[in-house]
Amino acid sequence: MKKWTAALVIGALAVTAAGCGSDNGEGSTSGLPKAGVAIYKFDDTFMSGVRNAIETAAEGKMAVDIVDSQNSQPTQNDKVDLFITKKVKAMSVNPVDRTAAGIIIDKAQKANIPVVFINREPLADDLSKWDKAFFVGAKAEESGTMEGEIVAEYWKAHPEADKNGDGILQYVMLKGEPGHQDAELRTKFSVQAIQDAGIQVEKLAEDTAMWDRVKGQEKMAAFLSSKGDKIEAVIANNDDMALGAIEALKAAGYFKDNKFMPVVGVDATDPAQQALKEGTLLGTVLNDAANQGKATVELMSVLAAGETPTKENTGFEITDGKYVWIPYKKVTEASK
Ligand code: BGC
Ligand code: CA
Repeated sequence: MKKWTAALVIGALAVTAAGCGSDNGEGSTSGLPKAGVAIYKFDDTFMSGVRNAIETAAEGKMAVDIVDSQNSQPTQNDKVDLFITKKVKAMSVNPVDRTAAGIIIDKAQKANIPVVFINREPLADDLSKWDKAFFVGAKAEESGTMEGEIVAEYWKAHPEADKNGDGILQYVMLKGEPGHQDAELRTKFSVQAIQDAGIQVEKLAEDTAMWDRVKGQEKMAAFLSSKGDKIEAVIANNDDMALGAIEALKAAGYFKDNKFMPVVGVDATDPAQQALKEGTLLGTVLNDAANQGKATVELMSVLAAGETPTKENTGFEITDGKYVWIPYKKVTEASK
């Protein structure tokens, strides 16, 4: 605790000392080590949560410049170049295209600026190129498994969920962005968990809604018009798409007059928590934005000081000298 207080005092002193001569217009942050953070796009509910968490965790610790890559890899590469020109002490990148991490690592290494990737996992071969490249995220398969378990539990407790009584669970899948580890692995492991619970499944439809609420609604409306009442469950790779699906289901008469549909998502965003309360969303999985943001800042801060991140100096376990894995957690109305 002492250390923490000391850090606060030093931070406060630095702020006071630099207060009037602020050179970068960032006022209270000048004097702190500079860090650059490039988010894949600002218009993403979950990443907005991570962004806020980074800002909160950086207070008094680092001067973070968080930029929007606008879902374009070339734009993101330009942003990274700019961070390098500005001589930031550490960077964090949420890749637009995770296979582009190799290029970013090359740039970072050349400039000797440590880089912490977040949320979109670089390929292992890329990450291993440099010992100052890290990843902070969550194990995608874990979230998929938890989603599937929520569905399986519901199915077993509610025999009426088998609407056509054939003993098989007919489901539709709303996928995130293809190629994203969370989209691929949640899709696979959610279904796997249902099967592992001894339930037979049949996929009626699957489509990508690109993590997006409006697209989730459109895709679900399309599923409903082609498959209608045959659908017995909706599995979405994230909450935004699940919430979109719920809108489409409401428009089709669900969630009233005893017409229910189990819908599951991942993230546990505020609107998803609200939907849980209202009884439309069956369950979700906490994707811990607060701790992902905190770990990102802790790593950048230690790296900016020229040290090697450890459990002792960051507060987070570093796996294989590269990874910080933040655990997922099942969230249902009953579990709260
Ligand atoms: C989240 C999604 C988000 C995506 C962005 C995932 O981990 O669950 O909600 O859109 O990351 O990369
Ligand atoms: Ca059935």
